[in-house]
Amino acid sequence: MRIVIKIGTSTLAYGTGMLNIRLTEELCKIISDIKNSGAEIILVSSGAIGLGVGKLGLKEKPKDIPGKQAAAAVGQCELMAVYDKYFQEYSHTVAQVLLTADDFNHEDRYQNFINTINTLLDFRAIPIINENDTVATSEIKVGDNDTLSALVAKSINADLLIILSDIDGLYDKDPHKCADAKLIPVVDKVTDDIIALGGDEGSSLGTGGMKTKLTAAKMLTESGTSMCIANGSDPNNIYKIVNGEGAGTLFKSSKNI
Ligand code: GLU
Repeated sequence: MRIVIKIGTSTLAYGTGMLNIRLTEELCKIISDIKNSGAEIILVSSGAIGLGVGKLGLKEKPKDIPGKQAAAAVGQCELMAVYDKYFQEYSHTVAQVLLTADDFNHEDRYQNFINTINTLLDFRAIPIINENDTVATSEIKVGDNDTLSALVAKSINADLLIILSDIDGLYDKDPHKCADAKLIPVVDKVTDDIIALGGDEGSSLGTGGMKTKLTAAKMLTESGTSMCIANGSDPNNIYKIVNGEGAGTLFKSSKNI
């Protein structure tokens, strides 16, 4: 089974931009265990800007582009240092892959990216992908890692994309406003009505919101890959999803119907 796991900034870091050590360590342990069981794992990790904010001691995420790009340059090192340290404890090797939208739009670069990921998986390494925030401008930006992770999962024919976020999944109403909102465990088809359930807000340090996740789910499920949105604050959700017990919201691929 080939699984892409997207880890959001809100899972890795506190609002201060400092690392959530307990959660990150637990995540790396569980992901290592699932890899040991035979699955191929590719991570798409946010957190470069967020951890850069923490490391530089900034009060908030910079609003200007050079500020964000500088924070990302600092935070990306921190991010990989953290993953390297924790995955090494379980004898796994990590590999940094930084992409921009151009890499999906130019055939030769696209093929090279796919070949590299496949080779890294043959080498039993864990590719850890992020947008190349330091050079990406609006013209060549994917823009958010929900979309990036769906593009990656589609390109490499993954069986499943798991998006770990700070919400439990998709609700039938806005859970922040309606106490009776219910979690939707399975979505068979991402219709316009489903997309309409997404709001626009993300966390203060991250970028994507429910809307970007639902748009990603539509693109991905239509191309034949299932996707799950689950709360990253309980890393055991990954076991439940992979074992078929269910956690969060599963968006079934068009192949499964
Ligand atoms: N690439 C950004 C970062 O690492 C995150 C984008 C997102 O949160 O979707 O900070």
